[in-house]
Amino acid sequence: MAVPLFDIKPQNNALATELQAAFARVLASGQFILGPEVQNFERQCANFLGVKHALGVSSGTDAILLALMALGIGPGDEVICPSFTFFATAGCVTRTGATPVFCDVHADTFNLDVADVARRITPRTKAIMPVHLYGQAADMAALNELARKHGIKVIEDACQAVGATQGGKHVGSLSDFGAFSFFPTKNLGAFGDAGLLTTNDDALAQQATLLRNHGAHPKYYHKFVGGNFRLDAVQAALLAVKLPLLDGFARKRTANATRYTEHFAKLPGVGTRLILPTAQAGSGHTWNQYTLRLPGAGRREALRDWLAARQIGTEIYYPVPLHAQACFASLGQTDADLPVSARLAGEVLSIPIFPELTLAQQDEVIAAVSGFLARGSEA
Ligand SMILES: *Cc1c(COP(=O)(O)O)cnc(C)c1O
Repeated sequence: MAVPLFDIKPQNNALATELQAAFARVLASGQFILGPEVQNFERQCANFLGVKHALGVSSGTDAILLALMALGIGPGDEVICPSFTFFATAGCVTRTGATPVFCDVHADTFNLDVADVARRITPRTKAIMPVHLYGQAADMAALNELARKHGIKVIEDACQAVGATQGGKHVGSLSDFGAFSFFPTKNLGAFGDAGLLTTNDDALAQQATLLRNHGAHPKYYHKFVGGNFRLDAVQAALLAVKLPLLDGFARKRTANATRYTEHFAKLPGVGTRLILPTAQAGSGHTWNQYTLRLPGAGRREALRDWLAARQIGTEIYYPVPLHAQACFASLGQTDADLPVSARLAGEVLSIPIFPELTLAQQDEVIAAVSGFLARGSEA
């Protein structure tokens, strides 16, 4: 039985009637950008996340860029972010003219190492951008405390973590700005590109609203240079159908993660040859990814090939840490400076965890991973 890494079709097919009704409503309205559908979805998101302001935007990447622009970050400024993350986190910093300063992560949570952040703060540091990687919150209490001490801003890259919580509060509500992505593989998946920017600060919300639409106020008068970061009505209408189901999706992902961990914990070599992902105490992990670590040269690739031969989908998030990307070579940060990020890039492998994964499919993955560890060359 083939087991895809991710399959959006069962989730969307089950909602076909409601989604088609939402689409028909937008079609009939003739209003396709921003407007009442977007406002309705924004209100729904603000309530769900417990934030004062939620702005529908064109993608998670644009949410990050818009947050940086609204904070006035630009040339001469530094923004500290993890090296072990998706490219957009740091790509947006560079696009503002500021410099990303890469920081290392903890091997067990994959999230920012706060002590390492502290070491990298300079008089030019304007913001810290933690990433809630794979659906688990970074240590926001410690990061906010550090930021307060130095008078710098915090932007959460919550693109993989919609619905995740820390201390009972939603990610994206824990700092100056939260940036969310509704890319189809995220826990709340749109029907194209879509994103959300959240804040509890009225002035920042106002500035981000201006910049989302070229800084125009009133129409055709520009005090600031913004961009086109607007959300489409059709995406908002369709996402509004799925948002009420998000907690249910997260419960299924969590059940899948728990079941994997129960089975894998019994395997020989667990903790050394196979390292399992962990949920921190008090963290509302939403398991956008279930990411194994396979230490030892070539072992991650060997497991990936082994699973591919059994038609089981996997992905490497992410094979190259950002400090080692060609476009950031001029920044001069090295593997020696970011050893955990460099190591993780060679060890991680994400396996199927999506909510609609069946027990039979999951059993197939469990059997295949067990078989890999029991191979002659492994035993
Ligand atoms: C998906 C993702 C983004 C970008 O979101 P898009 O909607 O694809 O632009 C940014 N950061 C992280 C960590 C992501 O996973």
